[in-house]
Amino acid sequence: MQKEFGFGTKSIHAGNVKDTQYGALSTPIFQSSTFIFDSCEQGGRRFAGAENGYIYTRLGNPTTSVLESKIAALEGGEACLATASGMGAISSCLWTIAGAGKHIIADGTLYGCTFALLNHGVTRYGVEVDFIDTSDLDALRAHLKDNTVAVYLETPANPTLKITDISAVAEVAHAYNPEIKVVCDNTFASPALQNPLALGADVVVHSATKYLNGHGDVVAGFVVGKADFIQQVRMFGLKDMTGAVMDPFAAWLLLRGLKTLELRMARHCENAAKIAAFLAQHPAVEKINYPGLPTHKGHDVAARQMKDFGGMLSFEVRGGKAAGMKLVNSLKLITVAVSLGDAESLIEHPASMTHSTYSEEELREAGIAPGLIRLSAGLENAEDLIADLAQAMENL
Ligand SMILES: *Cc1c(COP(=O)(O)O)cnc(C)c1O
Repeated sequence: MQKEFGFGTKSIHAGNVKDTQYGALSTPIFQSSTFIFDSCEQGGRRFAGAENGYIYTRLGNPTTSVLESKIAALEGGEACLATASGMGAISSCLWTIAGAGKHIIADGTLYGCTFALLNHGVTRYGVEVDFIDTSDLDALRAHLKDNTVAVYLETPANPTLKITDISAVAEVAHAYNPEIKVVCDNTFASPALQNPLALGADVVVHSATKYLNGHGDVVAGFVVGKADFIQQVRMFGLKDMTGAVMDPFAAWLLLRGLKTLELRMARHCENAAKIAAFLAQHPAVEKINYPGLPTHKGHDVAARQMKDFGGMLSFEVRGGKAAGMKLVNSLKLITVAVSLGDAESLIEHPASMTHSTYSEEELREAGIAPGLIRLSAGLENAEDLIADLAQAMENL
């Protein structure tokens, strides 16, 4: 695939392998767990890495390979590994990087299960984790140590939409030790809006359940980075540690969803910007977090490192948690559900749902207010979404 093709062209064409048997336009689903060897010797050569070819779907599958090549192209990475979920990607990646006696610096504002993995999971096995605010470079400098192996962050962060300057973090971490892996969860932006590898990150992880698939019918993830690192994640983190392999049918659904990623992201962004403008002027709204608003703390950094400001926003209404819950329960069109990046607009209450892995004190430290409401702007017509929010606000 030529480098100069646009994002939309790449999301449709990159990585595709021509079906020489029947000429199928759509990549076939190789729903096979294992692959036949011509001989015992050939099987041995494949296991030894002396001959290319598929062995077993946990190690690779032709449908999934097309998808991995496509995602690598969209993120501007050398290689990609598909996984069964976003948590499968994150855990396979971290198990590959860290071990007993190693140290990870992580942002304190993370997807709830990532926070749990870092806070209560890897620490059980002798990995040391410090949570900081990665948008504070002095805090980052103060926590880097000889045994630091990774700096882990999300930008925009779930659910506060906090923005971290990826290049600045990569510069500080790599100046201290070029071996440190800066790992960025790019789920909220998607590669259509932000490419962390081009900004200096070493590894990108995704919950492909969200925008990449985009249709609310798949749970999936990706790890993207240098070819040798991705090979380590494939042959250790995934193969031996998590076993979180993507199913070929999920890979096929993702190939289908990705064809419209650029178009969908444009609409998600447009809808979120209109909703944010509506909420920002509404008297019932106490606080709104959307990186596209000039009042957002990370607006300038977001404008620099993202192509647009994304489809996610969060807000608090006057009256705190009780009023926020009432608002959510009064909606008629916007759906109450976790997950994000789907055609349907989805709304949820992080403190009791996606971020219930945080204690009250941890929520406070991460800036996740008890009444915070998170909204994923879908692909509906913005005026319908705004009208729904407006009628629900009248109930407050
Ligand atoms: C949903 C999510 C995850 C976890 O992904 P799953 O596909 O649900 O395992 C990780 N990071 C972020 C930012 C998410 O929103």
